[in-house]
Amino acid sequence: MIFSEKELCRPTRIHRFSPHYFFLFPIFMEIWPVICDQQPFMKYGRIWLFTALLGLVSSLRASAQEKKSIYDPRELWAPFFYAHGGNGFRSAAGKPGPDYWQNRSDCKITAVLDTLTHTVRGIAKIRYKNNSPDALHFLWLQLDQNIYREDSRATATTPIAGGRFANEDFTQGYVLIGVEVNGKKADYVTSDTRMRVRLTEPLSGKGGVADLKIQFRFTVPRKGSDRMGRLATPNGEIYQMGQWYPRMCVYDDVRGWNTLPYLGAGEFYLEYGDIEYTIDAPAGMVVVGSGVLQNPKQVLTKTERRRLAKAQRSDQIVVIRSASDVRDPQSRPRIGMLTWRFRCEQTRDVAWAASRAFTWDAAKINLPNGAHGLAQSLYPIESQQAWKRATEYTKHSIEFYADYLYPYTYTVATNVAGRVSGMEYPGIVFCDYKCKGQSLWFTTTHEFGHNWFPMVVGSDERRYAWMDEGFNTFINGLCTADFNGGEYDTPAQDYAVNYCFNPDGACIMTIPDVQRGQNLAADAYYKPAMGLRLLRDVILGRDRFDQAFKTYVHRWAFKHPTPWDFFHSMENVAGEDLSWFWRAWFFKNYALDQAVKGVDYIDGKPAKGALITVENRGKMALPVIAAITESNGETTVVKLSVEIWQRGPTWTFRFDSHSKIERVELDPEHQLPDANRANNIYVTTYGTSEK
Ligand SMILES: [Zn+2]
Repeated sequence: MIFSEKELCRPTRIHRFSPHYFFLFPIFMEIWPVICDQQPFMKYGRIWLFTALLGLVSSLRASAQEKKSIYDPRELWAPFFYAHGGNGFRSAAGKPGPDYWQNRSDCKITAVLDTLTHTVRGIAKIRYKNNSPDALHFLWLQLDQNIYREDSRATATTPIAGGRFANEDFTQGYVLIGVEVNGKKADYVTSDTRMRVRLTEPLSGKGGVADLKIQFRFTVPRKGSDRMGRLATPNGEIYQMGQWYPRMCVYDDVRGWNTLPYLGAGEFYLEYGDIEYTIDAPAGMVVVGSGVLQNPKQVLTKTERRRLAKAQRSDQIVVIRSASDVRDPQSRPRIGMLTWRFRCEQTRDVAWAASRAFTWDAAKINLPNGAHGLAQSLYPIESQQAWKRATEYTKHSIEFYADYLYPYTYTVATNVAGRVSGMEYPGIVFCDYKCKGQSLWFTTTHEFGHNWFPMVVGSDERRYAWMDEGFNTFINGLCTADFNGGEYDTPAQDYAVNYCFNPDGACIMTIPDVQRGQNLAADAYYKPAMGLRLLRDVILGRDRFDQAFKTYVHRWAFKHPTPWDFFHSMENVAGEDLSWFWRAWFFKNYALDQAVKGVDYIDGKPAKGALITVENRGKMALPVIAAITESNGETTVVKLSVEIWQRGPTWTFRFDSHSKIERVELDPEHQLPDANRANNIYVTTYGTSEK
């Protein structure tokens, strides 16, 4: 999911910071008018005015705060950060333990899309394997379509003014036509977006299997919480279909059944398995979905297959269906229905899209070890100009992430334009059909980055959005810097970073449904991404960080890591106690404020060396980077590790000056999120010094 809402309405101060997260700003600009349903000009004007006022108020507050440091090392470095050590399931080293287990959900689904009534009816056959040590007396499933019922908890908790996840129209949710378990009618109860199926015989642990068969029907909402829905275009409706079949809740060693309801902001926590599914749709439509199409000969025309074969060998974009094809009714079979058959292996979900209106292009993806995949984009004629590079963006994103992190396992990567502003599913993403240029790049690379978090690394998105959104935003920054010589890499510029450290804000660990809209963007996306950037560029260095981060991904690929597994794994591989950092950055809302306090010379003589005093005024601590410029014209950069702050808020270090120090600047490249930069610079003029 790409974040939008009004989060930038609440910056408290304007600062320069690492450039690599500002790149999402244009996306906000793009999506804002859609979300807020207001004129962009009005909004931007108000936002900048509001930002300026808040900036003024905050800088006054910041200067008032300078009198006294509020830093307490005993608080930041308090012992017992880890409440528990490792166990047989999850080791203290941050990897799955020898007794780690995970349940499995293989699924076969047949579905029919009725375009006259905008309904989907289907049968999901789920083979659920209980690898836990526990016998299970009942099973919990997720019925996400029930979010669109008028009596849903999500409807009840939607603000009057609406918002991104609000429903435009209500549906009946799932109409359950039949529920069977092991071939017999099941005893089940639904509660909002969940369903509990009682088992007559307990499902034994360590490998017991239960077969569920659920016959369902639902009406496709026009706007489905910005994750699915349909868009009317001049050449036909575009259906983007996610959360469309009943899925197992995760049963794990941490909480047992994970049954948080689907309220809108919180995304998904899902089991892995192989999924085969068929979609019956009117013959004139093109259907794309997660995984690999199994029966191209039955559903694609000869021309389409020939062009696809060419695309599979081409680094350049090849058109599969042009605008004139879309306008030509002869270009597709005209009568009856066709059955599209897909298979997606080792996946936590599948999604699909269907339309008569799709123009379609594709190109080859070059994967590590000589493997190949296919990048493809499907969009209406109205998006042709905007989306002409969508496949190029898709191809580069997949190639970059597969090389940096972990192989791409879904072979095909499909980018579908439609109503949804930005949403990820395994091997397929939905992006706004109006998106273009830089915004389309950002949305595309973001949504495909999700193929690694959470599609490969299967964390609990509903509780810990930062484990997918934040990690993804971080790799998006690396990918953006790499794409086409940095075409969309935004240079450092002033922007509101401190909304991430808003004193009224929550913290990264606050679950998404408890976050206020304006804080979710900060705490799920930017702040965790900045945190990883700090770890990589300042605290650990690139080698140690990259190795630790990749190790985490490989250890937990297709598994269910918790935040603690991530923290443990990073510390163990990087060889650094980072509890102080996790505490300040993830569990608290501590802000950083480093300052230069003063410069003295030994015996009053610059040639003998200088004693430079720095101060930590905020509650967070980070290493110090100081650029020291002498009157002889030389500038030296001194780096001090974070441990200088372990015994108090001030630290004096010796610098071998050869001439008078003219200037000391902390964090000269703006790598740290310093809340008050006014006190970072010390300048000497005409024998007097000022800060
Ligand atoms: Zn996202």
